[in-house]
Amino acid sequence: MQKYSAISLAYHAFRGHRHWQRAWRSPEPRQHYDVIVVGAGGHGLGTAYYLAKHHGLRKIAVLERGWLGGGNTGRNTTIIRSNYLQDESGGLYELARSLWETLSQEVNYNVMFSPRGVLNLCHDEHDLKGVQRRVLANQASGIEGEFLTPAQIKKEVPEMHVACPRLPVLGASLQRTAGTARHDAVAWGYARAADALGVDIIEQCTVNGFRIEGGKVRGVETTRGAIEADKVALVPAGHASVLANLAGFRLPIESRPLQALVSEPLKPCLNTVIMSGAIHGYVSQSDKGELVIGGGADAYNGYAQRGSPHVLAGSIGAVCHLFPQFRRLRMLRSWGGVVDIAPDASAILSPTPVENLFINCGWGTGGFKATPGSALAFAHLVANGSPHPKAEGFTLNRFASGLIIDEHSAAAVAH
Ligand SMILES: Cc1cc2nc3c(=O)[nH]c(=O)nc-3n(C[C@H](O)[C@H](O)[C@H](O)COP(=O)(O)OP(=O)(O)OC[C@H]3O[C@@H](n4cnc5c(N)ncnc54)[C@H](O)[C@@H]3O)c2cc1C
Repeated sequence: MQKYSAISLAYHAFRGHRHWQRAWRSPEPRQHYDVIVVGAGGHGLGTAYYLAKHHGLRKIAVLERGWLGGGNTGRNTTIIRSNYLQDESGGLYELARSLWETLSQEVNYNVMFSPRGVLNLCHDEHDLKGVQRRVLANQASGIEGEFLTPAQIKKEVPEMHVACPRLPVLGASLQRTAGTARHDAVAWGYARAADALGVDIIEQCTVNGFRIEGGKVRGVETTRGAIEADKVALVPAGHASVLANLAGFRLPIESRPLQALVSEPLKPCLNTVIMSGAIHGYVSQSDKGELVIGGGADAYNGYAQRGSPHVLAGSIGAVCHLFPQFRRLRMLRSWGGVVDIAPDASAILSPTPVENLFINCGWGTGGFKATPGSALAFAHLVANGSPHPKAEGFTLNRFASGLIIDEHSAAAVAH
C-alpha cells in the first residue's frame, strides 16, 4: 500500500495528481474463503481489517450488496462518546473511544477525529437525576465526564438559550474527550488498510442465502454465485433480521428508519456537540460549517432509507428551541438510514444457533462511535469462537438469561 503522507502529497502534486494508486482493488470472488464478512460498513470492514492484522487470516472477503460505506456508516451524524450507564457498555464504548484517538495513524487515513466534547442536556428533575447518575457511574469506572450547571453550560456554549421558559436547561453532562469524526473516511480508511492486507472487498454482491450442513455454515449464496467459507460473520446493521431469517433463526431486533439533515454552511459558531434526549434533538457543526441535525427514530418498522417528515420537523423544532437564532437558516438536504434496535438498546456481538456463523448488530441509533471497538471485539469472537473480554455481556444469551444491558436512558435520543 502506498503510504499517504505530506511527502507523497507533494510528490503527486508535482505530477498533476495523475498517478495515485487505487485505494482498493475490485476483485472477482474466489471459490473459498476462511472468513466471509457480510456488510461493508465501518464495522464489517474493520472486522476484516482486525481479522487480518491481529489474527493472521489472509483469505477474507467482505461482501456488500451496494457500495462500501453506503449503509448507516455513510449516513450518520458522526457523534462519538462513551458515557453510557452500564459497566459493560462503558467498557466497550470506552475501548472504541480510545481507539479513535489513533485510528488515523493505524489505518494511514485521516478520519478527522475531533474530540470537541459532547453535552447531554437535562430539562426536568427526572432527567437531571439520570444524567448525574450516569456521570457518577462513568467517573467510578474511570470514564472521563463531568456535570455542568446552567451557568457553566452558558459559559461553554454562549449561543444556547439556556434559560428558555418552556423547557429551561437545568444541567448537562459533558464528556470533553468525546466528539465527532468523518464517517466516510472511516469506511474508506478501513477498506484501504484491509485491502492492503489481502482482504477482497466485493461490492454489488448481495447475500441471499446460506449453505448450512449439519448445523454448520459452509458458505453463502449471492447474486454473484455461491461462495464457500469456513466461517461467516454478519455485520448488516438494519438488515440483520433479514439475514438471520435466511439462516433459519430469529433476532430480537426491530429495523426502523432514522434520519438527519444539514443546514447551509455558517461561520464557526458551535464548538461542541449538543444533545437533548428530553426534547429529542441534537446538533453539531461540521468542518464545512453546516449544522448537522438529528433526532429520534421513526416509531414504526421499515426498510426504506427515508423517514417521516413530522419526525424531522420535531428535530428541527427541538434545535430551534435551544438556538432560536437558527430559525433563519435554510436546510440543504436530509437523508435516512435503517437502524437495528434491540429491546435493551444495546448491541449484539454473538455466536448464533448455526455453528461458525456469527452476528454483530443491534447498534441501533448509536453504533458509529463504537466502530473500532466493535470491529476489534468481533474479529476476536470470529477468530477464537469466544467473546472478547470487553464484549462478554453482548451475546444473544442475555435475552434468555435476563442479564440485559439496559441503555435506554443513555441512548434515548438518536446519536
Ligand atoms: C441518520 C443516522 C444518524 C446516526 N447518527 C449516529 C451518531 O451520531 N453516532 C453514532 O454513534 N451512530 C449514529 N448512527 C448509527 C450508526 O450509523 C450505525 O450504528 C453504524 O454506522 C452501523 O455501522 P455498520 O457498519 O454496522 O452498518 P452499515 O454501515 O449500515 O453497514 C451494513 C452494510 O451491510 C450491507 N448489507 C445488508 N444486507 C446485505 C446483504 N444481504 N448482502 C450484502 N450486504 C448487505 C448494507 O448494504 C450496508 O452497507 C446513526 C444512524 C443514522 C441512520
